[in-house]
Amino acid sequence: MKIKHIYEKTISIGSSIRNAVIDFSSMTISIVAIETDIIQNGKPLIGYGFNSNGRYAQGGIINNRILPRIYNAKEEELLNDEGTNFDPFKCLKMMMKNEKPGGHGERSVAVGTIDMALWDLVAKIEKKPLYKLLAERYRNGTYDQQVYIYAAGGYYYPGKEIQGLQDELKSYLDRGFEACKIKVGGESTSVDLKRIEAAIEVVGNGKHLAIDVNGKFDLSQAILFLKQIEPYNLKWYEEAVDPLDYLSNAAVAEASKTPIATGENIFSYIDTLNLIRYGGLRPNRDLIQVDPVLSYGLAEYINILSMLEKHGWSSRSCIPHGGHLFGIHIAAGLGLYGMESYPDVFVPFGKFITGMVLNNGMVGLPDCSGIGFEEIPELYPILKSLLN
Ligand code: MG
Repeated sequence: MKIKHIYEKTISIGSSIRNAVIDFSSMTISIVAIETDIIQNGKPLIGYGFNSNGRYAQGGIINNRILPRIYNAKEEELLNDEGTNFDPFKCLKMMMKNEKPGGHGERSVAVGTIDMALWDLVAKIEKKPLYKLLAERYRNGTYDQQVYIYAAGGYYYPGKEIQGLQDELKSYLDRGFEACKIKVGGESTSVDLKRIEAAIEVVGNGKHLAIDVNGKFDLSQAILFLKQIEPYNLKWYEEAVDPLDYLSNAAVAEASKTPIATGENIFSYIDTLNLIRYGGLRPNRDLIQVDPVLSYGLAEYINILSMLEKHGWSSRSCIPHGGHLFGIHIAAGLGLYGMESYPDVFVPFGKFITGMVLNNGMVGLPDCSGIGFEEIPELYPILKSLLN
């Protein structure tokens, strides 16, 4: 059982949207394909992956550092003890060979991208959907039959007025979503409050609306804004301050009655441990959005979940950033609260398999081998092109 070749390509997912901190005009992602010597259905078995949006393509680190370590690894350093499948935890160790601790930078994204394709392979080798494989390994075979997802959008489209925002959110509800998230912090407070009120008009009440500052505010701005939004009883207040400023995060959490959500820019086990040690988050109220693909992959994320549990956090407090089919498998198989979804941006990487029905914010699961990217008509040709 060998990896024959790993292909990587940079793809543009640029768009005109912006949040409070960045625009997405030059956003890119890496797509990868791992070709093995395993023959299934008469063809070589391939695992596919890509990195979550927001952190750009990782071709440099993948090609210069990660892939040579995989190619140079001995077979037993990548496979399980029985030699019957790849072991993503062993692969993670090999990918991290000669990397110092700390300073995670974006190597965590490069490793996470390869990790996604590895899990696709692992589940395909067992000929079952990834969520079933995860449930069998980590939850005694029990997986959630449906996964809670919410629509992330409400960006600052240049020239977009209140009517535009409302039309956007209405279209999410029409497609079966119950809750939406909009960006704030990119305009004056009075403009943002008008946007929040306009959004609540559409979604019905504050419990169905989350807001995301993308780390723009300093502590005093974050507290001032918090005071303005508390009466709306919102779903959550996301990344109000810099995600690595744990002291300020703790001060916001202390002052807030609204649930706090953060973690999409926390990229490792140790940073997540620091977040829950020092970030002031409360397990019975707040939400952790660590994105497995940005954070060294699902193998590291499984270790993060077990660390969280030891500190009194349920997997039901985890709702990862990212918005893709891989995340649906993780949420269902590991019993998370749910998953972010991007219905209209980062297309086609956030697309699900045709036939996965969405109702009241709950989406059904696919019956597929692996993650099932082959069954997404908008996405598969792009991934498959890696092998041409
Ligand atoms: Mg966010």
